[in-house]
Amino acid sequence: MSAENVSEEPRWQAFNQDGFPCSCGERHVGLFPVNMLTPAMWDGPKEYAPDEEIQLDRTFISESYCVWRGQNFAMRMRLPLQMRGASPTAFMYTVWAAVERADLQAYITAKAQNTLRNDARFPARLVSRIAGHHDTVNLMGLAFQQEDGWPPLLLLAGTQPYTNRPDHPLLLEQRQGIGLDRALELFAAYGHNMRPAASANNN
Ligand SMILES: [Zn+2]
Repeated sequence: MSAENVSEEPRWQAFNQDGFPCSCGERHVGLFPVNMLTPAMWDGPKEYAPDEEIQLDRTFISESYCVWRGQNFAMRMRLPLQMRGASPTAFMYTVWAAVERADLQAYITAKAQNTLRNDARFPARLVSRIAGHHDTVNLMGLAFQQEDGWPPLLLLAGTQPYTNRPDHPLLLEQRQGIGLDRALELFAAYGHNMRPAASANNN
């Protein structure tokens, strides 16, 4: 079945109205974010400190920020994959992306002063290994501050490091959007298998 335009799919309507029972034991109604708990290869504390207690000169992790020995800096960002035909609805990951210390500092200051701007952007490097995709670590992009205070949106773009394919499928999926079958595949990669219920809705 084609998934070129999810808005025309009965399964998409069913997912958003009644939801699908899932292998995790819950019933999910519509899309929900898939959250990465820590950056890949993180060996610091697993317990989050409050965001406000961030320290840039030591090892720290909170829901939004991460510092390794005062040397490496990362932030939680949202990485959207538009649902084809249902824009702006997007399959959403929250991921970790490495940033420059100065950009992190500027972000924290802007957030505290309520001066985040949607057009303020800074370079970011993905440090999450996202299941269901060809290795995603080190993919480069631009992070956009969000005036509403939600984590920055990460758009993968530009020259990619030699360790990643230049035609990395995740860049393509972010540019072109995905269909429902791909979304269900990506959920299943994180222990949320709704495919049996979805295929029962296939007619
Ligand atoms: Zn589930």
